[in-house]
Amino acid sequence: MLRPFRIHQPATVDDTVQLLGRFGEEATVYAGGTELLLAMKEGLLSYAHLLDVKNVDGLGQISYNSSEQSLRIGSVVTHRSLETSAEVLREFPLIAEVEKTVANVRVRNVGTLGGNLCFAEPHSDPAALLLLYDARVESKGSRGSRTFPLEELTLGPYETCLEEDEVLVAVVVPQLPTGMTGAYLKFGYHARPTLGLGVALRLDRAPGVGSDGFQELQSASIQEARVSVGSVGPKAVRAREAEAALQGKSVGDLLGSLNSAGSTGAGLLDEVGQLAAREADPMDDMHGSAEYKAHLVQVFLRRGLIKALGLGQQT
Ligand SMILES: Cc1cc2nc3c(=O)[nH]c(=O)nc-3n(C[C@H](O)[C@H](O)[C@H](O)COP(=O)(O)OP(=O)(O)OC[C@H]3O[C@@H](n4cnc5c(N)ncnc54)[C@H](O)[C@@H]3O)c2cc1C
Repeated sequence: MLRPFRIHQPATVDDTVQLLGRFGEEATVYAGGTELLLAMKEGLLSYAHLLDVKNVDGLGQISYNSSEQSLRIGSVVTHRSLETSAEVLREFPLIAEVEKTVANVRVRNVGTLGGNLCFAEPHSDPAALLLLYDARVESKGSRGSRTFPLEELTLGPYETCLEEDEVLVAVVVPQLPTGMTGAYLKFGYHARPTLGLGVALRLDRAPGVGSDGFQELQSASIQEARVSVGSVGPKAVRAREAEAALQGKSVGDLLGSLNSAGSTGAGLLDEVGQLAAREADPMDDMHGSAEYKAHLVQVFLRRGLIKALGLGQQT
């Protein structure tokens, strides 16, 4: 049962910070409430004051900066807005595509990006997806404003680096580098994902279409690779060792090892898959054992690489 609490509706981020400072541990930020109210109902969290930030000035906007080629997403922007925004659909179609798969439409209508990231539930799609873009976080607290990599926000399950009186203001998402293509795959049978995996690749040349294009693709090499893995471990991570193992390798080598993966136990793909699985730090939970999740990472990394190379739609 919910214990009584008071709702405050600050108009600005500064007012919110000031109220957080005034009430201390008795208060917290309340956005869509899809996590917070549930946890309070279950008696896992208790606050006397909830600071409703949904109408705080400047937190609800999505804006695209064409000179910097980056998307700025206010922290109270809902999943549904990200899914349907014309700017997101035009400039970051992968984000819209993934947002469409978050939860169900009732949760997406009220659940916010900031709430998702600040709750730091390990089973989060945006946390893994946005790492692929090297997204940054803007926050404000009594010690001022700061901007830092999204990678630093989550410390572990349900724990972020935000101070008690610090508010997540926005997430800034730069475009992938020119010529880089990305893919995100998720898997699971529960309400939340068991695995979320992002892959982005930039090749040294853009192959044409048709059979000649496929020959060209095979001889291209990977200039830059990004791999992000979420939901399987305590927090979403970039698998940097796996990325380094892919860099400079030819697509032909990769495709060769894609065909033999699982049968020979050798080759580039096995190496990269094992690195990514280790870096994701899989843990046992109701979604499955750590061993099972390590296997999922390897399977979905293979599918993600195929998709990022434009060779299929495997999910
Ligand atoms: C049935 C169900 C299915 C789901 N499926 C998925 C899924 O498939 N993929 C996925 O990624 N997620 C999934 N989720 C999680 C969902 O995305 C989150 O519940 C939602 O985004 C949380 O946002 P909120 O605004 O409701 O957060 P709230 O509940 O309002 O807040 C959550 C936490 O974040 C803090 N907080 C909120 N905003 C800020 C801020 N601006 N600054 C500082 N702290 C803040 C709050 O104090 C609280 O601790 C699912 C949830 C449910 C209930």
